[in-house]
Amino acid sequence: ATPTALLVGTGRGAQLGILIKGPEVLESTRRVDTVVLDKTGTVTTGRMTLHEVYAAEGTDEDEVLRLAGAVEHASEHPVARAVAAGAEERLGTLPGVEDFENVPGRGVRGRVAGREVAVGRLHDALPPEVAAAAEKAERNGRTAVVVGWDGTARGVVAVADAVKETSAEAVARLRRLGLTPVLLTGDNRRVAESVAAAVGIDEVIAEVLPEEKVAVVERLRSEGRTVAMVGDGVNDAAALATADLGLAMGTGTDAAIEAGDLTLVRGDLRVAADAIRLSRRTLSIIK
Ligand code: ADP
Ligand code: MG
Repeated sequence: ATPTALLVGTGRGAQLGILIKGPEVLESTRRVDTVVLDKTGTVTTGRMTLHEVYAAEGTDEDEVLRLAGAVEHASEHPVARAVAAGAEERLGTLPGVEDFENVPGRGVRGRVAGREVAVGRLHDALPPEVAAAAEKAERNGRTAVVVGWDGTARGVVAVADAVKETSAEAVARLRRLGLTPVLLTGDNRRVAESVAAAVGIDEVIAEVLPEEKVAVVERLRSEGRTVAMVGDGVNDAAALATADLGLAMGTGTDAAIEAGDLTLVRGDLRVAADAIRLSRRTLSIIK
């Protein structure tokens, strides 16, 4: 490889809004056949808003929302921000939380006004009415967040974000390069499938815990696939490092950017396809 041709490639990358860690990175993109896309913040905007609140018998919507909002207020997760902002908008100042605990890929816990509150995928058994409310929200493409206290699930808050305007075009560009897109998410299967359908992805891997994302990338590689992974979250960092090529959204977390080989500066997924095309072309100039 001539260093000059490689540097031309990386310079062109900067023009397109791609930051490349080092020229050697381009080499690994050549054989990529599979592009794993994180859902939240990568294919979707990651800016979630609160859509509905459901309360079981014995409580009411305001109480469900107040307790959920109080605990989520202490978390940075996009789901948490939506719940806390929605609760504050509707109810004003929220009560404080003690003994806050974040459970990655699952939810949050804490004590609010003497109650042990759990929010998210932290409940073993759901009362039928709560399960039905969660399923209904998920069928509508929303992320259902179960709210419970003192050991019982008692309500659901549903949040949703929008698919980015550019995501369907990005998936089409990847396909034109002969690449297979795969959607990977910790979110539930019904939501994942509705997003996949909206952007033209057939292969969906859902309900994956943050630490399992690495195992998914490893499994695809062990099947003989050469894997690029695109992600934005702290949860994606290990998978970005494990993939043959890690692409971080520039709009994402520092952890993802540090773990990636390439950064898509403006967070535009269409540029992922440009990056792969650029490196193929750069390498063909070198050869
Ligand atoms: P993704 O893979 O789509 O980026 P995460 O792995 O961060 O998503 O989260 C997976 C799922 O875990 C979310 O869709 C949500 O159901 C649940 N979850 C994670 N954090 C929270 C939270 N703070 N509150 C409620 N639910 C949460
Ligand atoms: Mg994400």
